[in-house]
Amino acid sequence: MAAAVPAGKMDDALRKEIDLFVEENKERLIADIARLVAVPSVESAAQEGAPFGPGPRKALDTALEIARDLGLKTVDCEHYLGYAVVGEDREDYLASIVHVDVVPVGEGWESDPWTVIEKEGYLFGRGVMDDKGPAVIMLYALKYLQEKGIPLKYPFRAMMGANEESGMGDLEYYLEHYPEPLFCFSPDADFPLINGEKGIVHGLIRSACRMENILEIEGGHAVNAVPSLAKALVRAKELKPAPRVEAEKEGEGIWRLTAHGIGGHASMPAGTVSAIGELYDYILENKLASPAEEAFLRFAVKIPHAPDGSLVGVAADDGLFTPLTLVSGRVYAEDGHIVQSLDFRFPTNTNRELLLKNLQEVAGDLATVELDQAADPFYKDPDCAELRACMDAYNEVTGEQAKPFTIGGGTYARHFKNAVAFGPEHPERPYPSFAGSIHGANEAARISDMLEALKVYIVTLLNLEALEYPC
Ligand SMILES: [Zn+2]
Repeated sequence: MAAAVPAGKMDDALRKEIDLFVEENKERLIADIARLVAVPSVESAAQEGAPFGPGPRKALDTALEIARDLGLKTVDCEHYLGYAVVGEDREDYLASIVHVDVVPVGEGWESDPWTVIEKEGYLFGRGVMDDKGPAVIMLYALKYLQEKGIPLKYPFRAMMGANEESGMGDLEYYLEHYPEPLFCFSPDADFPLINGEKGIVHGLIRSACRMENILEIEGGHAVNAVPSLAKALVRAKELKPAPRVEAEKEGEGIWRLTAHGIGGHASMPAGTVSAIGELYDYILENKLASPAEEAFLRFAVKIPHAPDGSLVGVAADDGLFTPLTLVSGRVYAEDGHIVQSLDFRFPTNTNRELLLKNLQEVAGDLATVELDQAADPFYKDPDCAELRACMDAYNEVTGEQAKPFTIGGGTYARHFKNAVAFGPEHPERPYPSFAGSIHGANEAARISDMLEALKVYIVTLLNLEALEYPC
């Protein structure tokens, strides 16, 4: 029988035992991932007993069934979320959290997204990586603890939500009705470990002036993405195209402008080019705007020109996170005014009120600024015992000397008092072109990485069990 070992002291016998367990369970693990992927689980209208629609409900049922087939006890939290548990199910528990809902399939698949296929060492199917594969992997990590009869100081719940992709209503319900875990990690992101997430706040600026020479304007499709396309209809006599802007004559003195950028996620604007910025630059350079429109554009263009917010008085860098980012994902006309969306990802040395005040000051009377409610940044000390337990497990199994990192996005982890996102993706190990990424076509998971992740999570559970809480 294996005993929980202090972090960083994984011995050869334990390593061999875990290797053997993973080898013996490999085929069944893959079959169980396929069984869960086979249940389409995109959110739809709520029904009786299915708060996120019948798909997520059925996926949750199937996941709990897989857990029971592995000999684990399960609890269904009113179909919002369910968990498998090892140890006596008490309120002072440790946990992991994954989700069994998925994003819509989209276009471009080369195989049926709901039927897992194996090709050249990869699994393909919607959810194999996000997050059904990790869901099944956590059940097998619990199976290890149970089968080996590891003495558990704290019960461990492998929690599985049914609504991560479209609102996190699963976790909201759980945290309202169930006690929080002492510590929780979420295998729904990247390895090695994410110990902080910037604050997020969305909002908009609205031009004070009404549109005159700009007749129509429309660009981008998501608040949280750098736009790759923006269009406008303007008054002009004669126009020439620019490197990123096409100009077509639409009628007498009316021209259609189409600007192209390089899109990307709003939390990582480096390397992107905003189509809105390109469109504004073109309008300004060709003097197409009325004096009032021009004054507004000269202000508004400062946002795409500097995604660190430095041209509009909101730049912030706290040394813990990468600096603040500010992206305008969309532009559109509303009641004759130009509206431009805002997506702030901010570190700990600023906040919603400061951002609002500073941006409004720079906008002056050219535009009004509105901001929604903010999600505050969260940061965990990488040297705290729980995080070391996770990182030691990762480095022991992979042989790396990796360190935690921070991101600008929002995962399950920020909703808990004591949680982090921990694996299982490896952005530093790129996939071949036939293997797609999460949320895209041909979503893939490299089998060897998944098996390695199972080992990491088993050692993590052993390390976490060896600690006293609160740490
Ligand atoms: Zn996910």
